[in-house]
Amino acid sequence: MMNVYDSKRQYMVETQIVARGITNSRVIDAMRKIPRHLFLDEALWPQAYEDHAMPIGEKQTISQPYIVALMTEALQLTNKKKILEIGTGSGYQTAILAELAEQVYSIERIPSIAKRARKIFDKLQYRNIVITISDGTSGWREHSPYDGIIVTAASPNVPKPLLEQLAIGGQIVIPIGEESAQDLMVYTKEDINDFKEENYGGCRFVKLVGEYGWRE
Ligand code: SAH
Repeated sequence: MMNVYDSKRQYMVETQIVARGITNSRVIDAMRKIPRHLFLDEALWPQAYEDHAMPIGEKQTISQPYIVALMTEALQLTNKKKILEIGTGSGYQTAILAELAEQVYSIERIPSIAKRARKIFDKLQYRNIVITISDGTSGWREHSPYDGIIVTAASPNVPKPLLEQLAIGGQIVIPIGEESAQDLMVYTKEDINDFKEENYGGCRFVKLVGEYGWRE
């Protein structure tokens, strides 16, 4: 039987995801499946499927559903096995990735946020997500190279370690720009020092704080 959240979620996918041009069926299916409300405080569940970002504590936010879909589609996850995510946050984007890739490594710098996400992954029984608490601007060299890297916080430029830890043929999806507004950029690694650049348009994220991002 469908509950109220299931029907809100199907409506979200039709009006915010499909209607705006997301076509990758695996991305659409993952968004139909994952219970986004469970990644928020219970008081916010009634708003979980609305068309905007929402607070998750510590001045951080869960991204708007459409942005999650757009970033995931940009990663071109067919046959991509190992994904690195910087900025676990609520864990919602991480769960979408875990539906589409074999293994997801996710880095979060705020311990309380990482712990909460880990609890939700355990509850939903994700076995292919590993989270660590550290500065994700340095990447996670141990498991590199990655088939794709997604950064869900805004940076003045692309952290160099992430470019190095990306496999040839892979994509980095990252919001680049000023504190107040950014462009969603996609870089494809065509060769060791050869990146193709695409601009997916304006967006607004919280700051990527770290050695190769914004300094505190
Ligand atoms: N995809 C998440 C977005 C969370 S907001 C979601 O939809 O819920 C961005 C997150 O990036 C915040 O939790 C913030 O603490 C984290 N962050 C910022 N700088 C970071 C860094 N250098 N390393 C790891 N995480 C970082």
